[in-house]
Amino acid sequence: MTVIQGFLDNKIFHIISDIAESKGVRAFVIGGYVRDCFLGRPGKDIDVVVEGSGIEIAEAVAEVVRSHVSVFRNFGTAMLRYRGVEVEFVGARKESYRRDSRKPIVENGSLEDDQRRRDFTINAMAFSLQKEDFGALVDPFGGIRDLDAGIIRTPLDPDTTYSDDPLRMIRAIRFATKLSSSDRPFRIVPESLESIRLNRGRLEILSRERIAEELNKMLVCDRPSIGFRLMDETGLLELILPQLCRLKGTENVEGHGHKENFSHTLEVLDNVAAAEAEAIAAGTLKDYEFEDGEEKEKIRTEPNLWLRWAALLHDIGKPATKRFDKDAGWTFHGHEVVGARMIPKIFKSLKMPLNEKMKYVEKLVLLHLRPIALVTEEVTDSAVRRLLFDAGNDIDDLMLLCNADITSKNPRKVERLRQNFELVRRKLSEVEAKDAIRNFKNPVTGEYIMEVYGIPPCRQIGELKEYIKNAILDGVIGNNFEEADRLMREKASRMGLVPLPSGQ
Ligand code: ATP
Ligand code: MG
Repeated sequence: MTVIQGFLDNKIFHIISDIAESKGVRAFVIGGYVRDCFLGRPGKDIDVVVEGSGIEIAEAVAEVVRSHVSVFRNFGTAMLRYRGVEVEFVGARKESYRRDSRKPIVENGSLEDDQRRRDFTINAMAFSLQKEDFGALVDPFGGIRDLDAGIIRTPLDPDTTYSDDPLRMIRAIRFATKLSSSDRPFRIVPESLESIRLNRGRLEILSRERIAEELNKMLVCDRPSIGFRLMDETGLLELILPQLCRLKGTENVEGHGHKENFSHTLEVLDNVAAAEAEAIAAGTLKDYEFEDGEEKEKIRTEPNLWLRWAALLHDIGKPATKRFDKDAGWTFHGHEVVGARMIPKIFKSLKMPLNEKMKYVEKLVLLHLRPIALVTEEVTDSAVRRLLFDAGNDIDDLMLLCNADITSKNPRKVERLRQNFELVRRKLSEVEAKDAIRNFKNPVTGEYIMEVYGIPPCRQIGELKEYIKNAILDGVIGNNFEEADRLMREKASRMGLVPLPSGQ
């Protein structure tokens, strides 16, 4: 057996080892932590499997390290935190499945039984925590061999593995996406890929929430396109997000073809991932949160999942709006509006939150053509102000998406669009610095109008406010109270409103 040095330096492993010995049970580190050690990616969470009661060992460890332990008796698991790391304990188990559920019948088992029920060979490796062979690798299914070769394979027959728990089909694709890097792809073995295709109908026993959770993990990977292509090839995508499959293919009429929108979408998604990673590394992306009624700025340190969803769905309205015009060729007029309207149904189908995150995705899809439309027309201050007003705090994400959307086989066209795009970017920061539109608040409030004219809430107040907002966005007046107040009075007098003596 190989004993690996350095992977188990954390003191917690020795504490667990001592306690397991004193209780006369064997304990092992298993799963993602072991895999990530060999990949040189520092693992965060630690999973410990015990041949006996995981909960009992966890409680004893928690006492030594003086940590709180959360016990989940139904699952036979317990979790504690040690110096910022989550350590989860479970008893080794043997599982058998029924056809209609992904919840197995569980019995106590040995380490080997436990390894057999794991999803992939690379996730089934364990490090011993026994005194006599502390740190020894226990790898009965060739996880190390597969890790070296960049292979995802199930420990048992793939049909049984996937049919027992169909979530593993999506997990296989998620790990292929997550572990692949530019210099070394991770591949699902052909036999396994074929089995996913065969068992895809088993997805029906999964809850939509669990599917969405895996999709979300896939989306925040460095190259999410890998996962979506695999889902498409195996037929899973048709069952999960059929709307995306409708983007596939291209048509040719009288020598006019159009972009293959599925590949384009995936290219944009990867572009967004790369651009966001770069911006995160440079510390240039900001998020805004409201705390105690005040806006707080935070530098983004993790990918914004919802920006990825916006990239994935940005052209989702194209199939429904596709037309062929003798003069213009293929057009997709209004696809951004139709696409934005499709978002709630898609989110609902995956039981995703129908809250401000969804609104953000709708907004980005709706606005995704605006920055580029600006560069093809003249870049007026007024158009820039309107874009800033409509995008608000999400302007940087919108610009990132829009830039990522510039894909063409013609390098000269790409170069020209990118240059124009930079012009819009510069103009945006100039206008924002001058007029502060991003967080536009009308300098004249409804309460103020009611006070000046002594009128109750009515239509005229909305009309006045709208008039002032448009004047500011069009650059007729500056974004400040004095000019807004003067304009309000002029307009109100034309509307026949007379200020109260106190309001003059
Ligand atoms: P990540 O870095 O994504 O957390 P991980 O390998 O730790 O990767 P988890 O989902 O946290 O993945 O699961 C921990 C371990 O539990 C896995 O490594 C695997 O051994 C096992 N496992 C998780 N889900 C399943 C499943 N559906 N079927 C079989 N084994 C599973
Ligand atoms: Mg994990």
